[in-house]
Amino acid sequence: MLRSNLLQKYSQLVNHYFFNETESKELIKYGISGKNVCKVEQVHGNRILEFNDSREIKPDGFDGMITDKSIYLQVRTADCLPIFLFVPNKKIVCALHAGWKGLMVGIVGNAVDLILSKGVKVEDIICVIGPHIGNCCYDVPYKRIKIFQTRDRIDHAISEKREDRWYLDIGSVAVNAFLTKGIKRKNIDNFDVCTKCNKDFASFRRDKDKSGRNISLIRLIS
Ligand SMILES: [Zn+2]
Repeated sequence: MLRSNLLQKYSQLVNHYFFNETESKELIKYGISGKNVCKVEQVHGNRILEFNDSREIKPDGFDGMITDKSIYLQVRTADCLPIFLFVPNKKIVCALHAGWKGLMVGIVGNAVDLILSKGVKVEDIICVIGPHIGNCCYDVPYKRIKIFQTRDRIDHAISEKREDRWYLDIGSVAVNAFLTKGIKRKNIDNFDVCTKCNKDFASFRRDKDKSGRNISLIRLIS
């Protein structure tokens, strides 16, 4: 299980886990069960569910969750980015599932805007990007890189050409999206752990349809 040093500074207020594939199958060992977990469908979109107390809501069509309640927000990934946002002085947490499609349709910006709409100052937002496929392994069609280069006006920092193939640094795309919204660099933690290289983690690129999932969870301590 991995944890962010940045978020661990607030371990009195919030707990979080980035579980690998094996650990993800044994959540009960960590005291985590269905009853205290909020999850969404994850459709590679940009919608964020505001979770209050009602269990009646149908969590379809969402890729993110935000709450001020003490409940685990769960994200399942296999190469995509699990992302947490946390505001220490307002007790707000948000969890996102983001792949290139979600980043393209602006899920990161939506999350920041939603948090700002709750009277939070941008400098108080902490962002953590968990283990995801690295640019060591994430080769993509050049047109996919072009989408982000054009929209975000960045180039060399997010892509690399090696032996006629283009590699996208999807974590840096997310970091850049946070910086564009005014988040401080010191408040962003981006894990340098590639899910495809690191066999403990589930990877869709590595294992295709046989791939399991990595579960990431964050919860406010009540
Ligand atoms: Zn890799």
